[in-house]
Amino acid sequence: MDERTWEEIFTSEFFDGEVRFKESMRDYTSLRIGGPADIIAMPKDPMSMKNIFIVAKKRDIPVFPIGSGTNLLVMDGGIEGIVLSLKFFKRIDVLEDEGEVVELFVEAGSPLQGLVSFAKEKGYAGIEALAGIPGSVGGAIFMNAGAFGVEMKDVIKSVAVMDKNGMLNRLDRDEIGFSYRQSSIPQGSVILSANIILKKADKTYVEEKTRQYMDKKRQSQPLKEHSAGCAFKNPAGDSAGRLIELAGCKGMRVGDAEVSHIHANFIVNKGNATAKDFLKLMEIVRSRVKDASGVLLEPEIRIVGKND
Ligand SMILES: Cc1cc2nc3c(=O)[nH]c(=O)nc-3n(C[C@H](O)[C@H](O)[C@H](O)COP(=O)(O)OP(=O)(O)OC[C@H]3O[C@@H](n4cnc5c(N)ncnc54)[C@H](O)[C@@H]3O)c2cc1C
Repeated sequence: MDERTWEEIFTSEFFDGEVRFKESMRDYTSLRIGGPADIIAMPKDPMSMKNIFIVAKKRDIPVFPIGSGTNLLVMDGGIEGIVLSLKFFKRIDVLEDEGEVVELFVEAGSPLQGLVSFAKEKGYAGIEALAGIPGSVGGAIFMNAGAFGVEMKDVIKSVAVMDKNGMLNRLDRDEIGFSYRQSSIPQGSVILSANIILKKADKTYVEEKTRQYMDKKRQSQPLKEHSAGCAFKNPAGDSAGRLIELAGCKGMRVGDAEVSHIHANFIVNKGNATAKDFLKLMEIVRSRVKDASGVLLEPEIRIVGKND
């Protein structure tokens, strides 16, 4: 039996990277809400990541991967176990640039907007509509993030995933079930990288398209406030924002959690909102929308962690 403390393990040769103990998840999420995580591990290489999975499995400790925390509501009691950050996995390489099609290798910790800018600078088309979506490439794949009719799945060729046993697998796009704001990649497995297919295009065209989408996003979403993006999924054929506005919820508040005045499907943290405030407001909005239009909204944000 391995009797070492986590401090001893994370300072041994088994692990290259950074580690934090009992740090508030406020500092790791765009919503700036959440209690502490027992351990936040930031491995620098796949072997260190594999070792984390092996030890966590032996000790029966959960591992929760995060990207940039832009789609997360972390509960006030924090997260038990290990939060695994991919902040050191940020490489973007061009694998193929010969014909009209371009293949990129992208590590999952790369900011999605880093990838959008890279494509814009090179004149590679396909992801202009994702301009302005915060978060990492890994989070965007896991969530099948999208905007204006374009989703992450549209440009994926394959994904490298490490499962909870530390085994690395390559999944082709067809082996992954992608649907609206979700993928079939099991929660807890880590996406390490992806091969992405884009098309060569006129550079000014890609620049202009990216700028147009970015402008649209700035006009319609409260990008400067603390949020986790859309709180609820759009029901088929409708918009959750429209239904929330119709139900008279814009500006409603519980503590420091507020239904945004700019986009009703964004719930923002005006300062010191707790997860409890946020969830209470979500429940009120849900029940008002149900009463007003008969639609039961489903959360889009990922709610993780434990109660106080
Ligand atoms: C202002 C704002 C605007 C937004 N606009 C949009 C939008 O237009 N469209 C849209 O789709 N979303 C939008 N979002 C939501 C969010 O940005 C996306 O869902 C984003 O792709 C999440 O990426 P992330 O790295 O922050 O993931 P996180 O929030 O860190 O994690 C989200 C989920 O993905 C999992 N995950 C993250 N990284 C990995 C990995 N490497 N391997 C396995 N699992 C992983 C986590 O375990 C978690 O379940 C918006 C958010 C904000 C704050």
